[in-house]
Amino acid sequence: MLDDLRCACDAPGCDRALGDDQLLVRMVTAAGERRAYECACGAVTVTVVR
Ligand SMILES: [Zn+2]
Repeated sequence: MLDDLRCACDAPGCDRALGDDQLLVRMVTAAGERRAYECACGAVTVTVVR
């Protein structure tokens, strides 16, 4: 299940888990699906889902 994927914030010192509640935008490209998450700390983390 793709929606079960978990990732964590990239910001130094911040290790919050990122999930659907933090999902900012989702883009599907030839390389896969990219998701941008906005953490409560304000940082945006981008992940690629293959
Ligand atoms: Zn964070």
